[in-house]
Amino acid sequence: MDAQFDVAVIGGGPAGSTVASYLAKAGLSVAVFEAENFPREHVGESLVPATTPVLLEIGAMDKVEAAGFPKKFGAAWTSAEDRDINHNGFRGLNHDFRAAEVLFSERDQDGVDRDHTFHVDRSKFDHILLKHAEELGAKVFQGVRVGKVDFDGELPVVEVKVGSSSTHIPVKMVVDASGRQTRLGTQLKTKIPDPVFNQYAVHTWFDGLDRKALAVNKDQADYIFIHFLPVIDTWVWQIPITDTITSIGVVSQKKRFQEYGGDREKYFWETVASRPELLDVLKNCKQVKPMKTEGDYSYGMKQIAGDNYVLIGDAARFVDPIFSSGVSVALNSARLAAKDIIAAAEAGDFKHERFAAYENKLRKAVGYWHRFIEAYYRLNILFTAFVQDDRYRLDILKMLQGDVYDDQEPKALSAMWEIIEAVESDPTHLWHPYLGQLRSPTAAPSF
Ligand SMILES: Cc1cc2nc3c(=O)[nH]c(=O)nc-3n(C[C@H](O)[C@H](O)[C@H](O)COP(=O)(O)OP(=O)(O)OC[C@H]3O[C@@H](n4cnc5c(N)ncnc54)[C@H](O)[C@@H]3O)c2cc1C
Repeated sequence: MDAQFDVAVIGGGPAGSTVASYLAKAGLSVAVFEAENFPREHVGESLVPATTPVLLEIGAMDKVEAAGFPKKFGAAWTSAEDRDINHNGFRGLNHDFRAAEVLFSERDQDGVDRDHTFHVDRSKFDHILLKHAEELGAKVFQGVRVGKVDFDGELPVVEVKVGSSSTHIPVKMVVDASGRQTRLGTQLKTKIPDPVFNQYAVHTWFDGLDRKALAVNKDQADYIFIHFLPVIDTWVWQIPITDTITSIGVVSQKKRFQEYGGDREKYFWETVASRPELLDVLKNCKQVKPMKTEGDYSYGMKQIAGDNYVLIGDAARFVDPIFSSGVSVALNSARLAAKDIIAAAEAGDFKHERFAAYENKLRKAVGYWHRFIEAYYRLNILFTAFVQDDRYRLDILKMLQGDVYDDQEPKALSAMWEIIEAVESDPTHLWHPYLGQLRSPTAAPSF
């Protein structure tokens, strides 16, 4: 049996298009099977600068620039907390807990040649990347869903379905970029729910929202804003999509959402109402899309590579959207996996060991994200204090830029966890009441 393609990619989102671009550029024959017809909508609209080197490397940056997406120069956080939380200079922290902001240009980052990234309408951004992969020589099949992949023979055989008919295509290698549908993780039963995070998001777009209303520095109105709410483990994103359209998402514990019996409108508006000044802003503009929900999005995989396959992007793992890491992980996992796949193709050997470099780097990088996000949820007042502290600011910024692929754990992480453990173990600590509820069980699976 001869292979019809070197590589079959399941899914044409940012991860799938990017890996296909790298592989096609290297001269491999690649087929991308995408279940939907693009453009299609998708959550995940705010990028971080770690996407820049990848977009430049695959040659798609000019097209992304030309689309005129709003530029993102930094990120800002606002808090509902109007009390002056007493820090007493604990561990030398003496900054306000209420608001913070960072500018990406404060820290140099390898391969990043500009002071901004973008907020994107994903229907447009994903379409640009998919067409780019096609222009580089990948064969793109839209409206084609991948079913089972048979790994029992000499070559993997991919079942592709259009409507009720299906065909079987032998290939040398399969890349699963199917996002949260986790095609191979589901088939191989390797998916594990995240032991810490189980959040739920409801989101929509508003026209005419006053982005300056909650901004401390009014020049930063086009940053991404994260508004903390006075409800445990709950926050709101504010992401510019065009000059006038703004994406708003409410994120809270899944169990809270369930208390609303699936009524997403009620959940959205009642949660926002816990911050009256935010409610006022939203009431003064027009909702232009139906609300959408996203749940059960935090998981890992026991295995992200095997003989003749790798998993990339959300198909490999998703932690939590709080720091806008998803698309950057999709693009960088595609970059790292492509390197190993190209070397495997040159050697004519697609055995599991060939993908060890990819697997190690991705697991480490996503592991840093996990520890950082867990620290944030555990004691989020600490996050705003750390961002403003000269000892930790650039280290936190490194994470916020998505710069996590150098095998170096950011130093601020261990400092944060030391403080959290001190606060956890002392019920009389001034910050004890501010501890969140999400935390690792003592026997969390490692993945
Ligand atoms: C609430 C929430 C907010 C988020 N906010 C952000 C943010 O602000 N910034 C950010 O960077 N990230 C964010 N993310 C994460 C971001 O959405 C994802 O990380 C990103 O889309 C992953 O890209 P991907 O290519 O891996 O998967 P996707 O973009 O999901 O693409 C997968 C593609 O595979 C296709 N597919 C699935 N199954 C099959 C099949 N069997 N056959 C063929 N095709 C198939 C799908 O149709 C889809 O087009 C957020 C996530 C959530 C849940």
